[in-house]
Amino acid sequence: MPTPDSPTNFDVLIVGSGASGGWAAKRLSEAGLNVAIVEAGRPQSDENFTEHKPAFELKYRAMADSIVAKNHPIQSKFDVCNEYTQDWFVNDHDEPYTTPADKTFNWMGRLRMTGGRTNVWGRVSLRFSDWDFKSASHDGYGEDWPISYADVAPYYDIVEKYVGITGMAEGLEHLPDGQFQPPMPLTCQETVFREKVKAKLGRTVTLARSANLTRPINGRGPCHYCGPCERGCITHSYFNSAFTTVPDALKTGKCKLISNAMVHRVLMDPATNRARGLLYVDRVTKQSRELTARAVVLCAQSQESTRILLNSGTREHPNGLANSSGALGHYLTAHVRSGGGRGEFPELSHKKSLAGPNKPVGIYVARFRNLKNDPPYKKFLRGYGYEGESASSFNFRAPGFGNAFKQSVLQSRESFEITGFGEVLPRFDNFVEIDAEKKDIFGIPVLKIHMSDHENEIAMIKDMGDSAGEMLEAAGAKNIRTYANPSAPRWALHEAGIARMGANPKTSVLNGFQQTHDVKNVFVMDASGFTTNPCQNPTLTIMSLAVRSCDRLMDEMKHQNL
Ligand SMILES: Cc1cc2nc3c(=O)[nH]c(=O)nc-3n(C[C@H](O)[C@H](O)[C@H](O)COP(=O)(O)OP(=O)(O)OC[C@H]3O[C@@H](n4cnc5c(N)ncnc54)[C@H](O)[C@@H]3O)c2cc1C
Ligand code: SF4
Repeated sequence: MPTPDSPTNFDVLIVGSGASGGWAAKRLSEAGLNVAIVEAGRPQSDENFTEHKPAFELKYRAMADSIVAKNHPIQSKFDVCNEYTQDWFVNDHDEPYTTPADKTFNWMGRLRMTGGRTNVWGRVSLRFSDWDFKSASHDGYGEDWPISYADVAPYYDIVEKYVGITGMAEGLEHLPDGQFQPPMPLTCQETVFREKVKAKLGRTVTLARSANLTRPINGRGPCHYCGPCERGCITHSYFNSAFTTVPDALKTGKCKLISNAMVHRVLMDPATNRARGLLYVDRVTKQSRELTARAVVLCAQSQESTRILLNSGTREHPNGLANSSGALGHYLTAHVRSGGGRGEFPELSHKKSLAGPNKPVGIYVARFRNLKNDPPYKKFLRGYGYEGESASSFNFRAPGFGNAFKQSVLQSRESFEITGFGEVLPRFDNFVEIDAEKKDIFGIPVLKIHMSDHENEIAMIKDMGDSAGEMLEAAGAKNIRTYANPSAPRWALHEAGIARMGANPKTSVLNGFQQTHDVKNVFVMDASGFTTNPCQNPTLTIMSLAVRSCDRLMDEMKHQNL
């Protein structure tokens, strides 16, 4: 039961402090609203950052993957959850989810720190275009978003200027240019790949537009190329909500950060059909507490926000809050990325040193299938891009011994790898629901996730492997190896779509401002609202839409609609 001392009144309660929650807190508090960030995780601090700490200072020298996997069997499947960072992630046993036995799904990147996934994200920041927002009009599958590029473009500008994105302008309609900081230089492999792939295949290879600074902004220093951003950054040179948007919000004096607060449900006033606040469980004391406010904004990451809505059912909303359409929980999407290739560029070998820079940003190959002026590609709908990175390693396999061997070892081996990131079509039968049989350690019912591949994804993955080989060959790479593996269990860090936006309240959960059709003072500002999940990485769009939706929320408050 809630404790009697807990009710506190705010204008807006924001659940989560990651990419979307940080921006919502900043935008609303800087405009003068009293907000609280209700965050399941612990506070983050520069003292936790270990990007300069060598492995030999760690207890297990970063070599005991099985020890990390003990409490993090799912989270550690992606190497950003490691001996340095494991405490930032959920304990998979304490906070489980379930799947059908034949549909395994790796729900990774479940952070429990201020900043959420932005602590460890890959930082690739790409705009969507109308080729994405209006994809159904182009190829007839699914539904268009209820917004267009013109609606979001001014917000992309705001977010990019603040976040700081290193990038190169390319003039592509389907991958619009943004407000870039000067580009980080390309490596030799990347330069050769970019030039030859353009010349021979006409495809655009560009610097992966990335939230890493090359110029100082707002007291944050430019990147000094140390490499492991996922372990934090004491110069604050990549974008992490924990040291950007959230401190900005706190600085206003209008924002309170309530840490270790695991939100269970949205509380409703049945008389007005308005949310009146939140019920959360204090992770430390395990006590339930209530908070009240004029509006609630869910920014807890797609599955977590949807879980809160599904757990918030009432007599008036029996199938979960804001679910009169029956669409809540359905149309789950997450990128496929199991096709790609790698090769070597021996002619670029040079004398290697231990003190070289570690560029934290690679390249991006812009989508080249099913574009505006091309005939539809016969094998699948929509498209994919590639992220790529080069590596330069000592030649430990050099033959010989003595001085000659020492010299050969210093000759670097230059390799290059690209991995496809493909759009998954939204389908009703990829969905999440509450598992009536299982609760987490806070007593909150968990999600059951149902996701499987469709023939469109299978054909796309095969094409990722084939095209990777074609491009590496065009670039003159040697020892080319390509792969196209089944995508199950899903690589899930870019999930979207389970509380989809739409113009029609009968088929969607949110309107074009991420406001639930059913309860006017509840907004969901993470990727749950994405009507589709284009192949570009989602977070720049998540943040830009959050800012736009906050402006709408404030407008409605001004006009007494909320
Ligand atoms: C390893 C990795 C690499 C990635 N690379 C990229 C990339 O290159 N480009 C890109 O665009 N995206 C990338 N992403 C995805 C990106 O990080 C997310 O899209 C983005 O952070 C999502 O923002 P969000 O606000 O929805 O959620 P998050 O940033 O995850 O924040 C959610 C917050 O909500 C809190 N929370 C959850 N449940 C509750 C609850 N019940 N009560 C209270 N608080 C709760 C969490 O603790 C968390 O702090 C990557 C993600 C990972 C993990
Ligand atoms: S590579 Fe750059 S952004 Fe990443 S941790 Fe090092 S200094 Fe920070």
